[in-house]
Amino acid sequence: MSGPGFETLAIHAGQEPDPRTGAVVPPIYQVSTYAQDGVGGLRGGYEYSRTANPTRTALEECLAALEGGTRALAFASGMAAEDCLLRTVCQPGDHVLIGHDAYGGTYRLFDKILTRWQVSYQPVPMSDAGAVRQALAERPARVVWVETPTNPLLSIVDLAALAQACREAGALLVVDNTFASPYLQNPLALGADVVVHSTTKYLGGHSDVVGGAVVVADPALGERLAFSRNATGAVAGPFDAWLTLRGIKTLAVRMDRHSQNAARVAGVLATHPAVTAVLYPGLPSHPGHEVAAKQMRGFGGMVSFRVRGDEEAAVAVCGRTRLFTLGESLGGVESLIEHPARMTHASAAGSPLAVPGDLVRLSVGIESGDDLLEDLTQALAG
Ligand SMILES: *Cc1c(COP(=O)(O)O)cnc(C)c1O
Repeated sequence: MSGPGFETLAIHAGQEPDPRTGAVVPPIYQVSTYAQDGVGGLRGGYEYSRTANPTRTALEECLAALEGGTRALAFASGMAAEDCLLRTVCQPGDHVLIGHDAYGGTYRLFDKILTRWQVSYQPVPMSDAGAVRQALAERPARVVWVETPTNPLLSIVDLAALAQACREAGALLVVDNTFASPYLQNPLALGADVVVHSTTKYLGGHSDVVGGAVVVADPALGERLAFSRNATGAVAGPFDAWLTLRGIKTLAVRMDRHSQNAARVAGVLATHPAVTAVLYPGLPSHPGHEVAAKQMRGFGGMVSFRVRGDEEAAVAVCGRTRLFTLGESLGGVESLIEHPARMTHASAAGSPLAVPGDLVRLSVGIESGDDLLEDLTQALAG
């Protein structure tokens, strides 16, 4: 017998009705400390909310169930999750491979912070499994850090193939699953060791909370991470955990609509004379389409495209939309547009991870698809 389906887990995992009151939603335990029955006599396993808090526990149990992990840990932000994970699994002298179009903040964490702790990094095109194998053969890596689809170029990495290469080389495969969300893709089932999320994006889903998570397959690594997080302290607060859990309940229906609207947008952009290229893994012309179809349940809500002309033409399109709001971030119910080279990825300018100036990134929301298409068409008409 198979277990409960994704939609059921999203609503119920970690969220039994409160035993004392019957509240059907986990309460916001806005509390720092817990009364003890005699020294060390904990009533529910809780002693101090940096270590553990019941609202956060509910979120963590839900996230572990959705990713098929043994344990999840919720953090104050996606970057806090990445930082804690890397400082737990890496030591000075270690080497890490990152995608050559990694999220700008991840690149900055490696380039500006971790290098000072003698952890080196090397950008590699992760969609080329041969290049990854070669890099691993040339210099052993503690961690291989990938995103798929990537931000903002939407390239696709074959996770099963990469997991095999990492196993053979003794490297830990970490997948930043923020763009796909656990509804569309479960890296642990494909052989990855660790999943990272910015829960700020699709998991929270409403652009009203910042958070992060790490989900692991190995319980021993889960213990080490729980120790590190307690020691360093970047936990998710109870209200943030509660908002994220509230968002997760509708993740499945939201992702279906995000994917549906994004597919329509990509289709229209693909034939538009003002657009020179559309980067969307749902298009059969996308180089990663087949791999995406194999490892994802849908193609997601992120679409990037290149505008005919120069960087200024792309910036102008970003300034002309009315329904797509000009802003950073992604994954909320509302549609957003942005210019990666000058906004989200400005910190990668001049580096090997710099993005093209004519690129525009869309986070396609769940508004009426007709309205979204009309808005983009008028913005491209100039
Ligand atoms: C936003 C984002 C992060 C960082 O998460 P924060 O919650 O903003 O700290 C990491 N990875 C990806 C792919 C992201 O989009």
